Amino acid sequence: MQLTEKVKIHPTEEQVDVLWTISNLSRLTYNFALAERQETWRNEQRSVRYVEQQNKLPEMKKKFPQYAMVYSKVLQGVLKKLDGNYKSFFALRKNGDTSARPPKHRGKNYFFTIVYNQSGFEFRDGKASFSHKVNEVPLSFGIDREFENKKIKQVEIFNSDPYKARGEWYISVTYDYEPEVPYHDNGLYQAIDAGITKIVTAVNSQGKFFEAKTARPDKYWNKKIDTLKSRRDHCKKNSKRWQRFNTNIKKMEKKKADQNKDYQHKLSKKMIENTKANTIIVGDLKVKKMAKSKKLKGKRKKGLNRSTQNQGFLSRFIGFLTYKAEKVGKKVIKIDESYTSKECYVCKKRHKMPLYQRTMSCDCGNTIDRDRNSAINIMERFLLQNALWTGYRYFADNLRQTGLKMGIEFLDPIPK
Ligand SMILES: [Zn+2]
Repeated sequence: MQLTEKVKIHPTEEQVDVLWTISNLSRLTYNFALAERQETWRNEQRSVRYVEQQNKLPEMKKKFPQYAMVYSKVLQGVLKKLDGNYKSFFALRKNGDTSARPPKHRGKNYFFTIVYNQSGFEFRDGKASFSHKVNEVPLSFGIDREFENKKIKQVEIFNSDPYKARGEWYISVTYDYEPEVPYHDNGLYQAIDAGITKIVTAVNSQGKFFEAKTARPDKYWNKKIDTLKSRRDHCKKNSKRWQRFNTNIKKMEKKKADQNKDYQHKLSKKMIENTKANTIIVGDLKVKKMAKSKKLKGKRKKGLNRSTQNQGFLSRFIGFLTYKAEKVGKKVIKIDESYTSKECYVCKKRHKMPLYQRTMSCDCGNTIDRDRNSAINIMERFLLQNALWTGYRYFADNLRQTGLKMGIEFLDPIPK
């Protein structure tokens, strides 16, 4: 598995100049390659491949010698990034996401993240150093973390607020990680339904439930941010007052985002530490996304943005959960979750379940919280798909016991 760590750096003014030079040449390469792809599509109706563009780099360096100032792998990385952006755009469109937009031209005020892939960097004596030929100023930064013994794959240099690089400077280091404990199936499972209001509803092999609400720092911040925004919009754009409001708005938005991320880190850590199950099953969010984008067609853009934002929050959380699990020899498995929120887990009858409807009441006698119903369905589906009959019986028996203790009737799920 691969892990990525973010480390703060403190470049001097001279070093910032070097970073801007590399960033600009990277950005121009990006825009250049993007234009080539767009033109080829317009004129020949075909997609340009990554290799084609990479093969043109030496020619470009001959014509415009300034590009030779950038470490060669960095420019290749730019082309790879463009290629990746196109690929994810096509994948989203294929998935029915009509809000996906093709890669865009990058403006000159934006700091373009510099990517060193495989080589051109060195970690030694508490310093991270990067190759370049801009001038004699070395790109060498003191860092407070050790990477000497790690198999580093990639290092990116970026600014937390890329517009005019007004934020803080960081490097993010991606390296191969071998978990100390290898994964093995210990016969215990936990199934998770990830949602918008309740971020987690989980059920385990013992039939016990675990629930966590989504952190809502936005409730606190949105009001403050909206007030400032309306005050800002009453000022002349880009005036001193306008800029002061704008800076404060950005700061608050960052705090809001940080609090959310922090909560997700803590929650995923706690969940991995507290479960005996070595196998954690989650619904594949891609399916959720498809259903969303269809339903939102024609609705206000704000609604659509919020929904893709939620999607992002959830998949980031699953990401945290996945790597924290792998570190300790556990595993997160994604399975198709279609209809898990609509099907009664007892009799499998499908119900219309609009999001506001929090309880499922079925004619078979099953009345249950909608998210718990989904979690049970996800667990069942996984166990049955993998023919884990012992695990299935164990789960069904325990679920009935839980029901007795809680004074709720959990009906016996029927194997298909
Ligand atoms: Zn039913």
